[in-house]
Amino acid sequence: MPAPTLSAPDHSVAVIGAGPGGIAAGVTLKRAGGRDLVVLVRAEKVGGRWRDNGRPELEVDIPSLAYRYSFARNPHWGKLFASGPEVKRYRVAVARQFGSSPNIRFGTTVVGEEWDHDRPARTCPSGWDGDDRSTGRSGS
Ligand SMILES: Cc1cc2nc3c(=O)[nH]c(=O)nc-3n(C[C@H](O)[C@H](O)[C@H](O)COP(=O)(O)OP(=O)(O)OC[C@H]3O[C@@H](n4cnc5c(N)ncnc54)[C@H](O)[C@@H]3O)c2cc1C
Repeated sequence: MPAPTLSAPDHSVAVIGAGPGGIAAGVTLKRAGGRDLVVLVRAEKVGGRWRDNGRPELEVDIPSLAYRYSFARNPHWGKLFASGPEVKRYRVAVARQFGSSPNIRFGTTVVGEEWDHDRPARTCPSGWDGDDRSTGRSGS
């Protein structure tokens, strides 16, 4: 079966990854008015390390409050030291609630960064299933 191919996207801002940092960057940029934004994620879901580490007995080792975003205060933590699955659910909900989900392109690995002297801008070549190369151009 032929590998799927991407048309060449051309975004002014590219965020790499949708772990805690990528979610925060995506939401913050979007709230600042960044419409032409793409979040490139190697995985198929948001959450980063908290998604990968799905052990049910996992808990944070500092109070849950430290794990919430300043723009998404969460009064509903189940306990002082939240479980890993609860932290993961919170992060997924934040990505949805603040509207960054539609900007996320899953299954896309950034394979490098290049500085384009002509634009000037930094480009992030990215591959889908390792076969295609597309360009998420990030801001100058
Ligand atoms: C039980 C537990 C306790 C922890 N306690 C602490 C703590 O007390 N303090 C602390 O600072 N940290 C702690 N951590 C670590 C915490 O998980 C990380 O700090 C946090 O996940 C970092 O977020 P991140 O967004 O920078 O990176 P990550 O969560 O690693 O997310 C990276 C994202 O980028 C994507 N990605 C990576 N490379 C590429 C690429 N080339 N192209 C496309 N996508 C890519 C990945 O798929 C992923 O979605 C803890 C983790 C666990 C599991």
